[in-house]
Amino acid sequence: MMGDFTPEQQNYLKGFMAGVEARRGSLSPAGAGEGGTPPDAMRAAQDAAIAAGGKLTPEEKMKREKHPLDRWEEVEARARAGEFPHGLENLATRWHGLFYVGPTQDSFMCRLRIPGGILSSHQASGVAAISEECGGGYVDATTRNNLQIREIPAGKGVELVERLADLGIIPKGTGADNIRNITASPTAGIDPNELIDTRAIVRNLHHHILNTRDLFGLPRKFNISLDGGGRVAVVEDTNDIAFTAIRVGEEVLFRLGLGGITGHRDFARQSGRAVAPEDVVRVCDAILRAFLAHGDRTDRRKARLKYLLDAWGLPRFIETVEAQLGFPLREVDSFEPAPPPEKHGHLGVHDQRQPGLQYVGVVVPVGRITAGQLRALARIADVYGSGTLRLTVWQNLLISDIPRERMVEACREIQAAGLGTSASHLRGGLVACTGAAGCKFAAAHTKQHAADLADYLDARIAVTRPINIHLTGCHNSCAQHYIGDIGLIGAKVERGEEEVEGYDLHVGGGAGVEQRIGRLIRPKVAHDQLGPLVLNLLRAWQAEAPESSFQDFT
Ligand code: SF4
Repeated sequence: MMGDFTPEQQNYLKGFMAGVEARRGSLSPAGAGEGGTPPDAMRAAQDAAIAAGGKLTPEEKMKREKHPLDRWEEVEARARAGEFPHGLENLATRWHGLFYVGPTQDSFMCRLRIPGGILSSHQASGVAAISEECGGGYVDATTRNNLQIREIPAGKGVELVERLADLGIIPKGTGADNIRNITASPTAGIDPNELIDTRAIVRNLHHHILNTRDLFGLPRKFNISLDGGGRVAVVEDTNDIAFTAIRVGEEVLFRLGLGGITGHRDFARQSGRAVAPEDVVRVCDAILRAFLAHGDRTDRRKARLKYLLDAWGLPRFIETVEAQLGFPLREVDSFEPAPPPEKHGHLGVHDQRQPGLQYVGVVVPVGRITAGQLRALARIADVYGSGTLRLTVWQNLLISDIPRERMVEACREIQAAGLGTSASHLRGGLVACTGAAGCKFAAAHTKQHAADLADYLDARIAVTRPINIHLTGCHNSCAQHYIGDIGLIGAKVERGEEEVEGYDLHVGGGAGVEQRIGRLIRPKVAHDQLGPLVLNLLRAWQAEAPESSFQDFT
């Protein structure tokens, strides 16, 4: 029968049949759960790891014993008893978006899920009210176009999750071994420079993830990002799957990068393949299933996609994905990239592609927004714009669709809410993780030190070009210190008999067109010595090479 087809069609059919076989494999009786539960791809992968002589990690054993998605009843029971989960129970609770963050804060943190960061004013005011009634009365903007609510008492976690769901915000799978909030260009659909509006793709992918139970059984966390082009960088190359819009002839496609994890000093490697917008969800699903089936279940330090790619090499991984997918990925050698984003393009007032309309970037110092401020921003979005807020990966947000003639008034209201619309070149790219005020892993109070550092520098120097300063409290690198022009990771520093908080100082990092892992130039700098040290570096740059970027100078 194959003889009736052209060689190209035969290839396609072979790939398709291989995909069918692969799917059949993952649904085979060997993959079936015990006691007649439905077939489960995670269990099949665990069976394969055991059959190969491996010993499952305690986390994998917990997942195998009872799928965390089926543990909601336990979450409710603990809430009724006013108790927090501990140990592996706490890991399981993260499948529902709730993180017990004791002993630092004896409370839950909830990480929301806001695909591409786009939020309606109705949702934003709802989140403000929930943060007041079930949490600490504030939210933190994160580096994944997302928000977190903190200081949630044990008895309030369930109510909070249910109330978020009422707003259409489902925090399922925002922690632990799951796919995190999808990041994407925050100016999607309004940016005059973008190659493609990613909103519909992100929405489809978000719902595909939420509605596909197998995808809640990964070996470890997983990040996906789509850059449609445009003014605001999304650092997609720091993600496990990085889609970057490109032009190939008349078409707009996405370049496919794989295995980014900058905390492990690696960017997404280019696969040489490109994906059509209509195939993004299918391709993600196939990549996720390949990772699900073959990622490491015996060593959590090696359980990210990067390590599977390191072990296999790209060709074998791509072949496995194609077999899963049922068709070959398209190879692309030459293409036209989108214009590069603007450094600190997430700030200031800018024209939209829609004539007469503008958006404004709101400065949110180290990402913290009080409930009152969030409500005020929601109101401003309603009164002056279309009721749309757009979170960026720079711990801030944009308000869009404001008629040009009303922008001055809108900015005045933003300032009246205690927030700004412009920042110095030093403060505009200041990113800090939660740090020791709310995270037990932190070696330093990152948010406080970030604010102190910016105050110190702003009072002493005005640099000529924007730079990014990232402070992260530990090796988990939530604030991605390796991609900062100045990157700081918390460290304990000996001072006489005492230990004080401090940082290892890195310079020269960047992502996207500035892609480079920062290099360590000074370990263990006490936090109160950071200001003078960074100031000297900046002064040297401004004196010797003010026309160069800080990255090139260092
Ligand atoms: Fe906590 Fe470390 Fe993440 Fe900072 S980087 S929030 S200290 S886990």
